[in-house]
Amino acid sequence: MAEQKGRHIVIVGGGTAGSVLAARLSEDDGLWVTLLEAGPDESAYDSSVFDPARAPDAWLGVCPIARTLMHTDNNAIPILQGRMLGGTSAVNGLATLRGLPEDYDGWAASGLEGWGWQDVVDTFKAAETDMDFGAAPLHGDSGPLTVRRWRRDEMSHAQLAFLDGMIEAGSDAVADINDPGQLPGIGVFPVTIDADGNRLTTSLAYLPPAVRQRENLVIRTNSQVTGLHIEGRRAAGVILENGEQIEAGEVVIAAGALWSPVLLMRSGVGPAAHLTDHGIGVVADLPVGETQHDHLGPGVPYRHEGPRGGTAGPAQSLYIGASNGTDVDYHLFPIAPAATDGPTDFNMAAFLLRSSGQGTVRLGESPEADPIVTAPPLPDDGMERLRHAFDRLAAWERSDAFRESGCTPLIPYDLTKPDAVSVAIERGLISYGHMTGTCPMGSVLDADCRVLGMEGLRVVDASVMPTIPSGNTYLGCVMIAERVARKMRAGS
Ligand SMILES: Cc1cc2nc3c(=O)[nH]c(=O)nc-3n(C[C@H](O)[C@H](O)[C@H](O)COP(=O)(O)OP(=O)(O)OC[C@H]3O[C@@H](n4cnc5c(N)ncnc54)[C@H](O)[C@@H]3O)c2cc1C
Repeated sequence: MAEQKGRHIVIVGGGTAGSVLAARLSEDDGLWVTLLEAGPDESAYDSSVFDPARAPDAWLGVCPIARTLMHTDNNAIPILQGRMLGGTSAVNGLATLRGLPEDYDGWAASGLEGWGWQDVVDTFKAAETDMDFGAAPLHGDSGPLTVRRWRRDEMSHAQLAFLDGMIEAGSDAVADINDPGQLPGIGVFPVTIDADGNRLTTSLAYLPPAVRQRENLVIRTNSQVTGLHIEGRRAAGVILENGEQIEAGEVVIAAGALWSPVLLMRSGVGPAAHLTDHGIGVVADLPVGETQHDHLGPGVPYRHEGPRGGTAGPAQSLYIGASNGTDVDYHLFPIAPAATDGPTDFNMAAFLLRSSGQGTVRLGESPEADPIVTAPPLPDDGMERLRHAFDRLAAWERSDAFRESGCTPLIPYDLTKPDAVSVAIERGLISYGHMTGTCPMGSVLDADCRVLGMEGLRVVDASVMPTIPSGNTYLGCVMIAERVARKMRAGS
């Protein structure tokens, strides 16, 4: 290891955002970057990490994950995070969506300068090499993330039946579901995979051997941070599980939407009353963990008789709906199970894209325990919006493509009945895995993701989103990390 020089930046968490940060910050040889990841390096990846069709195996725990429960009024939803280099980008559904211009324009309108759609769209483009569209008004051809849409021969039987059946039932076929101008409609998910069809985690994409060889970058895996070393109101370093203390010029927490707020609270940065209840001295009284967004909704269970088919991941065909006809507000799609030779059961998920944000992340009984996570209640108009999704699902069930597919409902719902949505919700909400907004810009962080009232401390991951984008959240984390790294290198 070369002698340490320059400003020392310690990144906590080598996941989706942390890998991007480490790569981009270490491009600047005036900075010294240490990346600390709780889980193992890529050499320990289970083969299911690479194989998109086996992603649901990963959710069952064949590779390192942190598992937690998110409580709703009537059920507890298992939620998880990848615990390895690459983080949740190593276990997610590979879907690579951005959300809508109005999401980011809303961030800018709330006073967060530099986060409007026109600001962020160029970052989305720069992060990708789109293998279908190449350099185009909405796409890039030279970023680290190789992206393409599944081909029909890669898709499972049930997913093809959904794609074809929805078109037969009158939905518009959309060539690029990342183009807001083409929505609403049905299309195929863009996914982040390499040229051979293997999953590309953010660490594989951003931290290849040439980057890891940089003299100003140290990556330490199996290194769990338990707290921050705080002097006055300055984050002076971090403390590892084994008691080792690492000094830093700046600490960037990128431990994900559940564990970043936990680390802050354990270190005295959070709601004063909650910290005091846990015997933690208050360094900064901030609403950490007081908000939590997610995309939630009911799942309608189906069985497909016969082998699943295809090699694609769990998210393949997607209907992006607009309950008022024009303004996109829900996703409807079959979540494909892992590939098997026998009959396969799957959920048809209807996820609302608006979140009340009124979920929470609080410390458990002891600060060391897992956090207590509550789900955001559905927004007031959620049932009405979901009724539209169920009408579209009923239309799919009436299509020839559905009838010929070998798919049957596992529960005989009448999807068109007024109470169909509430009956499905009573069976339990499911989560898209898009926990966000637990340390939001605006109330906990400034627009450069610096913790308010603190020095030398930032959060950069899904936690920082002030509202949840109307799409899957992994690419948003990449975009945020790219933009904050640029600001940090410019001296912000
Ligand atoms: C099952 C599932 C499926 C999903 N599917 C999709 C999808 O298809 N498309 C999509 O866009 N989004 C999807 N998401 C969501 C998306 O993947 C996440 O929003 C995103 O990856 C979060 O990135 P992050 O950087 O905030 O956190 P992560 O990627 O989770 O990274 C956090 C990292 O911090 C490490 N860490 C945590 N605590 C510590 C500590 N104390 N010390 C050191 N290291 C620590 C963790 O091990 C982890 O590597 C899915 C999520 C789930 C759970």
